Amino acid sequence: METLPTVLLKPGEADRIVAGHPWVYANEIQRLTQQITDGELVQVKDSRQRLLGVGFFNSKSKIYVRVLSPERIETGEQFFEDRIRAALAIRQKYLPHAGSFRVINAESDFLSGLIVDKYEDVLVVQISSLGMDKRKPQIVAALQKVFSPRAILERSDVASRKFEGLTESNEVLFGEPVQKVSVNLNGLKFETDLVAGHKTGMYLDQQVNYQAVSPFAKGGQVLDCFSFLGGFGLHAARAGAAHVHLLDQSADAIEASKRNATTNGLADKCSFEAINVFDWLKANTAVKPHEKVIPRFDLIILDPPSFTRNRASVPDALRGYKEIHLRALKLLKVGGTLATFCCSHHVSTELFQDTLLSAAFDTRRVLRRVATYSQSPDHPVIPMIPETEYLKGFALEVVR
Ligand code: SAH
Repeated sequence: METLPTVLLKPGEADRIVAGHPWVYANEIQRLTQQITDGELVQVKDSRQRLLGVGFFNSKSKIYVRVLSPERIETGEQFFEDRIRAALAIRQKYLPHAGSFRVINAESDFLSGLIVDKYEDVLVVQISSLGMDKRKPQIVAALQKVFSPRAILERSDVASRKFEGLTESNEVLFGEPVQKVSVNLNGLKFETDLVAGHKTGMYLDQQVNYQAVSPFAKGGQVLDCFSFLGGFGLHAARAGAAHVHLLDQSADAIEASKRNATTNGLADKCSFEAINVFDWLKANTAVKPHEKVIPRFDLIILDPPSFTRNRASVPDALRGYKEIHLRALKLLKVGGTLATFCCSHHVSTELFQDTLLSAAFDTRRVLRRVATYSQSPDHPVIPMIPETEYLKGFALEVVR
């Protein structure tokens, strides 16, 4: 094996890499031993020349090196095949019955810059680093070998690509173009648009939570806020809800969730509204002075998109989170359940809980926490890499 170009770190900058975090920032670098082409494999050494790992280099990015392995490796098709098989084994262990799931979740699977989602027999690839982008043919070949899919699509339409000097790329990498796939989650079918849908098509990270929240719906009146394709709402309807009302501001999402309700034989229990959740909650909690809101729901699900883009937007986001919690709590019956989620990496579990407790205080509600949730196991959390943990949720019963 030829010697790799070397990135030498400044004294004191090695620990995070030794601990397993893959990112080397530009300001941590002492010097490069030679000129390095962006996207190439390099070795990273500490200030005393000890090898810390190898990874892809990109001088255009704030993340100069994305480490792939503590030891020397070759990054051809075989490397990707081995990593994909290892990641698949984790999914088969922790999500044994799933046919649709995230196969590769970037840093969570030690492949920074690469996401692969499996929607039944179609794979969707999302690449956000130059090193991975340059190895697209090897990645596609390895995916074909492991999964024999009907098609492999690319949905590299993420804004972060520009930080790597890349432009957006949406194309068919293998097979015929596919747009809509009927995705089976926990035995329910969801029509998913792989070309225009959110993320790479849908929110696979909630797969286990749809099922986990659904028993709270039994026999009750349910409100699913930010319902998208109806993930929470339709699981609730199947679990025996008396009625489910689904709210999403996207008319397309509401139409798709209606079709999903019909496909699954649950349409008679569901109603739908294309509306801004903030407006709906406000309108449904508005009362005249000295009147009280009449609580009428047994389960309210709040699963909003991330209200934060960066750290600076956190205060605004918290005001938004507080407002929806405040209004939802007014609409919940005593004994009812609030299932609430926050997918912002910038809002910690503690901060999220503080926000909803502040809403409970203002509405004079006392809550019992009956469950805590995280992202589905196909989005593994590596505690040494805090960025891998982003989704948190609680189920809270209204005590009084
Ligand atoms: N619960 C969904 C994910 C929801 S997040 C699931 O499990 O799949 C994204 C959804 O929130 C999108 O469908 C988007 O259209 C919707 N949305 C974003 N802001 C909204 C708002 N203010 N009011 C209503 N819907 C909103």
